Amino acid sequence: MMQRKETKHVPANHAGNGFYGQDIISVNQFDRAKLDYIFHVADEMRVMVERFGSADLLQGKILANLFYEPSTRTSSSFMAAMMRLGGQVIPINNVQYSSVTKGESLPDTVRTLESYSDVIVIRHPEMGAAATAAHYAQKPVINAGDGVGEHPTQALLDLFTILEALGKVDGLKVAMVGDLKYGRTVHSLTKLLVNYDVEFAFVSPEMLQMPSDVLDVVRSNQRRPEGHDYSILEDVHEVIGHVDVLYVTRVQKERFTDLAEYDRVKDQYVVDDALMQRAKERMIVMHPLPRVNEISYTVDNDPRAAYFRQMRNGMYVRMALLASVLGKA
Ligand code: ASP
Repeated sequence: MMQRKETKHVPANHAGNGFYGQDIISVNQFDRAKLDYIFHVADEMRVMVERFGSADLLQGKILANLFYEPSTRTSSSFMAAMMRLGGQVIPINNVQYSSVTKGESLPDTVRTLESYSDVIVIRHPEMGAAATAAHYAQKPVINAGDGVGEHPTQALLDLFTILEALGKVDGLKVAMVGDLKYGRTVHSLTKLLVNYDVEFAFVSPEMLQMPSDVLDVVRSNQRRPEGHDYSILEDVHEVIGHVDVLYVTRVQKERFTDLAEYDRVKDQYVVDDALMQRAKERMIVMHPLPRVNEISYTVDNDPRAAYFRQMRNGMYVRMALLASVLGKA
């Protein structure tokens, strides 16, 4: 999965950033040097878009955007990213109208699409599906969310937004709130944040706690074998006054087999003005979106609300990733 595709010829001048021809499947692929590189390119993309709107860096390149699950932001920001760089997109957002409905396998669909394109973005309901797609494809594959597994590009844009808003990551206290069991964004973000000196608070109903494999990474990891400080709690009021980042998630209704259970937990956390009054003056509220009831609309006008900035940043980060895997960054 992490290996450069065997059949690729990599010109010497592309050896530098290490992304050319690569799949982006997990945040585990990123260390601080790679993060700095992607964020630097994303910053350049922002400047370029603000000045000129678009460029021709990826002219002649085609992205296959293959979505087996609903998406608004991830799908359209990848499309916008490709188009703003002068490339084109094959959008497959309705797999029910593709040969998938006729029973075509994921490997065959991927091999078909790579015959027409230069890079494949895939979202799929099954954990591990993006890695499977990458295994069969010779062209780079980017994971846009694989079931309850990972959502690496979301975590990258989340981190980029934290840096933009707070100017640093080291030393921050980050609380993640809501559905930590099924929320793939918090799995990826946690695994990415262990690259920094961060303290975690995991706030959820008992039945939606962070999976043990993610907690294991917090307890001990390559960068810090002794692990990071963290707490597991149910009441957000216990931490709201101390956190620098409050990362709120939607309860993932589509992952529940018993909807009565979903109904029991769905509205347990609502960030409203009263809660925000107890938060620090310099902090941010994040959400990968879509929100259901987790954040009141009145909070949108609070300067600490960063979720719309996350959306915009997603496009810059995805531009950086596409340009990098296609060897044009
Ligand atoms: N859009 C995010 C995802 O695809 C978050 C969510 O759906 O709640 O994981």
